[in-house]
Amino acid sequence: MVARLAEFQETIFATMSAMAQHYDAINLGQGFPDQDGPAAMLHKAQAEIAAGNNQYAPGPGMQVLREAVAAHQRRYGLDVSPDEVLVTVGATEAISASVLGLVEPGQEVIVVEPFYDAYAAAIALAGAKRVAVPLKPSGKSWDLDVDAIEAAIGPNTAMLIINNPHNPTGAVFSEASMQRLASILQPHDVVVLSDEVYEHLLFDAQRHRPTCSYPGMAARTITVSSAAKTFNATGWKTGWAIAPVELLAKIRQAKQYLTYVGASCFQPAVAYALEEEMAWVEDLAQSLERKRTLLAEALESAGFQVHDCPGTYYLVADFSGLSDRSGREFCEQLVQEHGVAAIPIEVFCDHPEGWERKIRFALCKQEDVIREAAKRLALQS
Ligand code: PMP
Ligand code: GLN
Repeated sequence: MVARLAEFQETIFATMSAMAQHYDAINLGQGFPDQDGPAAMLHKAQAEIAAGNNQYAPGPGMQVLREAVAAHQRRYGLDVSPDEVLVTVGATEAISASVLGLVEPGQEVIVVEPFYDAYAAAIALAGAKRVAVPLKPSGKSWDLDVDAIEAAIGPNTAMLIINNPHNPTGAVFSEASMQRLASILQPHDVVVLSDEVYEHLLFDAQRHRPTCSYPGMAARTITVSSAAKTFNATGWKTGWAIAPVELLAKIRQAKQYLTYVGASCFQPAVAYALEEEMAWVEDLAQSLERKRTLLAEALESAGFQVHDCPGTYYLVADFSGLSDRSGREFCEQLVQEHGVAAIPIEVFCDHPEGWERKIRFALCKQEDVIREAAKRLALQS
């Protein structure tokens, strides 16, 4: 293994999915839905293949999708041109290309902990240095610790990566914290990579507010999202980065040598969905909200302490009352003995203190699957 990647084992998502399969368990580990996206979107992709859309798309992505992404941002009141949109192979490539294209080896990238694993790997691939700043508890959830972020910024900081709504905690950052973040960044030459893949998966009548909409943020923010979670299409790997053209040109420079372009047949299908299927997405969020409540109740009756889940696919539960094992060991036991897979949060942390007894359950499964998982978890207590 090259030294740059030495700290990275198989991703926890692959490990837990393989274990779930091996033990014939219900997989509430890796976050992928068990139902398809809007039928007309699926037909559109099939029709594109049949109609011959089977060769390379243009480097920046197909115009139809770049226009649809720009129009989608207008729903938030943002004035985005298709020239500020780069189509990528999932949000994952948008993240890697942003770090590779914008951060010099040796520079620092601040990540908010617990952090999605792809950030750490992208930073390592770029030869940059990861600086992890923990979230702070807020009620039964978490929020950005803006003071800690401010303290972590130094002359060598090139980028801050935030993810809102947040995987793996399900947290949604408060308006006050986001306002303060925008204000403390003013004097600094720091680019913000804002991963907003769960932008539409908010519960309890909340509305997403993009990071780039806060004062002074538009010029420094790269917004990343994808079709995966919005349209139940994780296998399509169709995402995008939105940024001012000078930043986007640098991201594109890296992206063109990672994959050149993504699959062409999906791009008009995702464009169609962004334009015509947002009502479907609202229904999706409502159904996830019901599943969130169902799973939270089941976990509580099984003896877990359940954190709030204002958005995303994920619910965090604390098992301190049930076991004093580590999160990884507890998840292994859960999958082997109870047939339910979950993800330990500690693996997303440089400072795991306080996270060792917290695990993440994915709630993006059909209700009867969640009920069956609830039955199996009931044996836990
Ligand atoms: N960022 C976060 C926070 C995620 O949870 C995921 C998984 N959907 C991704 C990025 C990757 O998205 P994609 O599958 O579009 O590459
Ligand atoms: N984003 C999903 C999750 O957090 C899947 C990630 C993956 O398999 N790389 O579970």
